[in-house]
Amino acid sequence: MIELFRVNMVYPNGVVALKNITFTIERSEFVFMVGASGAGKSTLIRLLGREFLPTSGRIRVFGKDLTKMRRREIPLYRRSIGVVFQDFRLLNNRTVYDNVAFAMRVVGAPSREIRKRVPEVLAMVGLEKKAKRKPPELSGGEQQRVCLARAIVNQPSLIIADEPTGNLDPDTSMEIMELLETINIRGTTVIMATHDKQIVDAMKKRVIALEDGQVVRDEQRGAYSSYDI
Ligand code: ADP
Repeated sequence: MIELFRVNMVYPNGVVALKNITFTIERSEFVFMVGASGAGKSTLIRLLGREFLPTSGRIRVFGKDLTKMRRREIPLYRRSIGVVFQDFRLLNNRTVYDNVAFAMRVVGAPSREIRKRVPEVLAMVGLEKKAKRKPPELSGGEQQRVCLARAIVNQPSLIIADEPTGNLDPDTSMEIMELLETINIRGTTVIMATHDKQIVDAMKKRVIALEDGQVVRDEQRGAYSSYDI
């Protein structure tokens, strides 16, 4: 479902962020991208979101070669992926309901469907009673739940999350991870960049470790670092 082949990324300022990355991720996998700050995790996530193109190499997602995608196809592709950010990126002057509904409106979903689907998704993330609140009135964990609801509302096959627990305390982080796991068990592929050792070790999922832009380890049911096994 996702295939990277000899991907290199050099930023315009000459920084080499990724070197010769090759791996495959199957449908319904849950994969952690781990590594120290600067290892290349975000770059990889942003390449998968087709924010920019690699300097060389091939990236295929859902059978589509992102390096050959036409410009006009990009918005549709981006909407087919659920994206979760560390800093939430919610509309602070809109209600929780509207934040999630907005993601459906931009893909042209009919109002009737929006009215049915948004409460379902809010219930799934445990926020049915907070639909009328605005993000600044919520805790960090609740705001991240809104992001998750927004990411899954259009039923994407893939969720990419860049440090989604980066601003949360350990307990709240685990709650978010349980939600991501539930979403994954229901069939959505999840790729999550993190440097949270506690989470990676607790979840026992596939771990792809990056160091200086290279894959140094790729293990099923892996731990954050190789010494911990
Ligand atoms: P991580 O997410 O693992 O912290 P990044 O992918 O953000 O790593 O960064 C990988 C390398 O690329 C680092 O050396 C970083 O400084 C550099 N980098 C990231 N974004 C840019 C950018 N927009 N322009 C130039 N260099 C960048």
